Amino acid sequence: MKTHAQAVVIGGGVIGCSILYHLTKLGWSDVVLLERNELTSGSTWHAAANIHGLHDSANISRLQHYTMSLYKQLEEETGQSCGVFQPGSLYLAQTEAREHQLRLQEAKAQLYGMNFSEISRERAEELHPLVNFDGIRCIMWEPEGGNVDPSGVTNAYAMGARQRGAEIHRFTPVTATTQKPDGTWVVETPKGNIETRWVINAAGLWGREVAKLAGIEMPLQPTEHQYFVTETIAEIDGMDRRLPSVADRDGEYYLRQEGKGLLIGAYERDMRFWAEDGTPLDFAHDLFPDDLERIMENVMRAMDRVPVAAEAGIKRVINGPMIWSPDSNVILGPVPELKNYFMCGGIIPGFSQSAGMGLMAAQWIVEGEMQYDMFAWDLARFGQWANDRDFVKAKVEDVYAHRFAIHYPNEEREAGRPLRTRPVYGMQKEMGAVFGLNYGWEHPQWFADEPGRKDTNGFTRQNWWGPVGEECRMLRERAGIIDISNFAKYRVKGPGAEDWLNAVFANNMPKSVGRSCLTPLISVRGGIAGDATVTRVAEDEFWVVSSGMAERYHKRFFDMVPLPEGTSFDSWTERMCGFNVAGPKSRELLARLTNASLDTGDFPFMRSQRIELAGVDCLALRVSFTGDLGWELHCATEDQAQLYAALLEAGKPLGAGPVGARALMSMRVEKGYGSWSREYSPEYWPHEVGLAGLCKMGKDFLHKAALEEVLEKTPREDLVLIHIDETAVTASNADATGGEPIFCKGKPVGRVTSGTYGYSVGMSLALGYVRHGAAAPGDEVSVMVLGQPHKARILHEPPFDPEGEKLRA
Ligand SMILES: Cc1cc2nc3c(=O)[nH]c(=O)nc-3n(C[C@H](O)[C@H](O)[C@H](O)COP(=O)(O)OP(=O)(O)OC[C@H]3O[C@@H](n4cnc5c(N)ncnc54)[C@H](O)[C@@H]3O)c2cc1C
Repeated sequence: MKTHAQAVVIGGGVIGCSILYHLTKLGWSDVVLLERNELTSGSTWHAAANIHGLHDSANISRLQHYTMSLYKQLEEETGQSCGVFQPGSLYLAQTEAREHQLRLQEAKAQLYGMNFSEISRERAEELHPLVNFDGIRCIMWEPEGGNVDPSGVTNAYAMGARQRGAEIHRFTPVTATTQKPDGTWVVETPKGNIETRWVINAAGLWGREVAKLAGIEMPLQPTEHQYFVTETIAEIDGMDRRLPSVADRDGEYYLRQEGKGLLIGAYERDMRFWAEDGTPLDFAHDLFPDDLERIMENVMRAMDRVPVAAEAGIKRVINGPMIWSPDSNVILGPVPELKNYFMCGGIIPGFSQSAGMGLMAAQWIVEGEMQYDMFAWDLARFGQWANDRDFVKAKVEDVYAHRFAIHYPNEEREAGRPLRTRPVYGMQKEMGAVFGLNYGWEHPQWFADEPGRKDTNGFTRQNWWGPVGEECRMLRERAGIIDISNFAKYRVKGPGAEDWLNAVFANNMPKSVGRSCLTPLISVRGGIAGDATVTRVAEDEFWVVSSGMAERYHKRFFDMVPLPEGTSFDSWTERMCGFNVAGPKSRELLARLTNASLDTGDFPFMRSQRIELAGVDCLALRVSFTGDLGWELHCATEDQAQLYAALLEAGKPLGAGPVGARALMSMRVEKGYGSWSREYSPEYWPHEVGLAGLCKMGKDFLHKAALEEVLEKTPREDLVLIHIDETAVTASNADATGGEPIFCKGKPVGRVTSGTYGYSVGMSLALGYVRHGAAAPGDEVSVMVLGQPHKARILHEPPFDPEGEKLRA
């Protein structure tokens, strides 16, 4: 075994082997994989290994598509069979909501060049004569759907990697990972140590234990999962072709042909955790005792759908472990608190995603960043707060038991909450706040007319649609108080603060005290890694406000630029809270609580002052995400309740009150403002999102060279604001929500990133990207709301206050 390597992958399941393979594909041949047992000794060997291309997330779809297409190529490359069967998959909708979901996926498939389209019942019966299609509202057909051989795929990746120079050592458990002061990792095994730049934790079921070797916790929890295979079924035995798999998600089971019988699996409500206190080290090619009784409800539904299954005997039952994250997506990426430690754990659809995941991991390690925005997979979407064991268990129970449930736009699941609350949580609750989860915090989405109301969920307009409109009108006509404590807040202080911020961010930092600037943060490939408002609050002190959910993600970027001697950078997100008081009467509202002059002459737009409001010391910034006259007020967390009570009291006589996040979303879209993770992401270039003007090329800053390169290229896409025709949205009772394809002259040209109703302008609106040159302001387009064409037009300017007069009033 070699003693030095560029990277060491821990774990020889399908994911570890795929990462190894993709590292070699990107040119790193000096890489080693260590496996404590045989390859496939975790969840991999016993998986049903079904493969699907489409996912609600566009980028995950792209990567699943890549995975499915790689298997055949891998076979050719290595000569190792991956056991690929692609007889196709039938997707069934029993409910209206499922039909909306499938139709939306059909529209997305056209945009991404994938095969997924509706077929008639007659055609479906030809494809799968054993299915009873009664009660099915629509059927979609994915010709590439099917399954693979888990061990064949894992070995093919391993062979492909070996062919390019990688080493694989089986029966070589990693017993310690320690980092030397120079950053080199020492990976210890009973067969000797390896020194390496990168450690990659792909230890699957043992991901938690391996992470602990480096002193870190991972929010992961294993569960049991079962499927069974029937004896030979005569009707299948008599066929000269393989039957398609059946994705009847409303029935909460999966079903496909295996041998000459059927394989049926289920994510049951009555689920079981496994290994809560740690995965046993002596577990390998093991299974749990059968417990079919627990999945019987789901199995009965499968048997109603495919009646021959009811007559067949059971040949084999698999009850094996799989390991979950709190939202069932992989926990992927370099751990921000460690140098060169890469995590990849908690993968559920390993065989639909293995190649995509391996490619993303390898790109991140070798090239510094992935080509796609994969925040949905990035471990930085969770902070340390997510390691709370009760939270992890509650979430995992929920995502397991609802594996096949539809996840609606704006859906906020209850499990594991509340986890993090701020002082005004109780007050907001009494006022009827309906909360969402924002980086672990409870955050008001809207205010119902009485406490205890909850969201209804669906693709159409829901119970919150009306009340959110009231909140928008209140703010636009009078004033509103929005809790913005969820923003990330940082203080940079010291003699080198200005230089450091100038070296991190693309815009020039404000020169004089009391001034603010908006600035992009540039990603490794020259895209938008973030946007922030930076305010100079003293000669040597700056206040930075940015996206709350991106705090851990942005830490990776902040750490790339060393802090000058004597200068500090601290997160103040927990110790400070904030409110945005906005609307035409916001000045009058605040004037009731302060002696400070808020007149435009004394307190203009994009300026800040430290003022006292109702006896509370506040940093007031005259900025506004609503597009209206307004102030952001930041105060100490212990003063939050006092300030909130005073603001609400002063607002009452003016007809002002609390406003939630959904109203804020509607108002920022009326103004055409982008938001991080929707319009701004590392995937988009500054000149595609209209932020190029904020990048000052006359100075040096993080990833400037990459930005220079992209600025020379023609934009691939343009960010546009779209007005969807009133008649169309009234008929469907739905607005765009994000992800809907945009068509122009019958061809897919782009997709929605944020969709909402603009209550104060009376228009259904969508922000989205369209292919550069494919559609321009004034053009008629079609937005696929609910997967159905909705007539729409690209706007020349935002419908609310296009000149910014209200903002500067
Ligand atoms: C019953 C069942 C059915 C499934 N069906 C499907 C399906 O239909 N489709 C699908 O896509 N997915 C399916 N899955 C999920 C799939 O199996 C997983 O997504 C996938 O196997 C995860 O692979 P992995 O490489 O991350 O982890 P694992 O397979 O757990 O591999 C981790 C490896 O790391 C090794 N290791 C651990 N600790 C150390 C150490 N200290 N040193 C060295 N090596 C170490 C282990 O021995 C193991 O080989 C199913 C899972 C189950 C349980």
